[in-house]
Amino acid sequence: MRDERSAEDGSPIRTRDVWFTERDDKIALSLKHDGKLYDVQSDYQRVAVYNTQAYGNMLTLDGMVMTTEVDEYVYHEMISHVPLLTHPDPKRVLIIGGGDGGTAREVLKHKQLEEVVMVEIDDKVIEASKLHLPSISQSLDDPKLNLIVDDGIKYVNEAADGSFDLVIVDSTDPVGPAEGLFSVDFYKEVYRILSDDGIMITQSESPRFNSKVFKEIYQTYRGIFGQDKVHCYLAYIPTYPTGMWSFSYSSKGKAHPLKQKSKEEVEAFAQSAKLKYYNADLHQAAFALPTFVRDMIG
Ligand code: SAM
Repeated sequence: MRDERSAEDGSPIRTRDVWFTERDDKIALSLKHDGKLYDVQSDYQRVAVYNTQAYGNMLTLDGMVMTTEVDEYVYHEMISHVPLLTHPDPKRVLIIGGGDGGTAREVLKHKQLEEVVMVEIDDKVIEASKLHLPSISQSLDDPKLNLIVDDGIKYVNEAADGSFDLVIVDSTDPVGPAEGLFSVDFYKEVYRILSDDGIMITQSESPRFNSKVFKEIYQTYRGIFGQDKVHCYLAYIPTYPTGMWSFSYSSKGKAHPLKQKSKEEVEAFAQSAKLKYYNADLHQAAFALPTFVRDMIG
């Protein structure tokens, strides 16, 4: 312990070398930090930012890790570039959630896009990220981004048929405001607002940790998009439970995830965008599932 100040009763308060712990019933993840930089109870959730020693500033919602400055690129590159380098001609993108701005930052690297809308329910997530996660939130003020603070479910319900080529659901876990983002009705509406070649990407939890939700997600999507139109891909994110994280890829048309743009085109993009995780080989490899994961989703 390096830094102490006195509480009213004279006892020391640690502000350095303090452990943050994300707890579940059976497992926990701990990170040492040097103070809480932001802590606000919003209308929806407790929004906090910690200054961790290993992973830089870290956003948590209701005590759960959402993103950190050091490993965020894995999640944000994979949720964005896999569909954008598969869709034949993406022009209009909708991001649901994603208030830290990391997904918007990656999506906006695709200069051919004509419209990028992001609908985040909680302005406190945006505020905390702008204040304390500048490298992640840097694109939230980009004039090309139409940032709307509202419920993503309402936005999707009111959007016109076929109005987006890509819908990215960058949501929290299926509790609180994000619960409806995991419902059959919501995904039917997403399907409706996708264009004929449209793709939906969602974060689909950890197969190892949230296996029940993981299985349900794939059953639900296959019921809506069709059995052979839904695929799972993986990425390794150290600050998420078990480190093994999944994303779902569902296409309305023929955009098969393993038929991405040419290797040369993907590599040229990855290099010019200075990506740190995604590349052409990884795009293919991410869809190769361990047998136990393949068995879970059939
Ligand atoms: N990368 C994170 C993860 O998987 O841990 C998730 C990112 S976090 C920024 C997800 C965001 O979804 C939160 O900011 C939350 O406020 C937002 N969200 C939850 N429910 C929503 C809803 N119904 N409409 C729009 N945004 C929502």
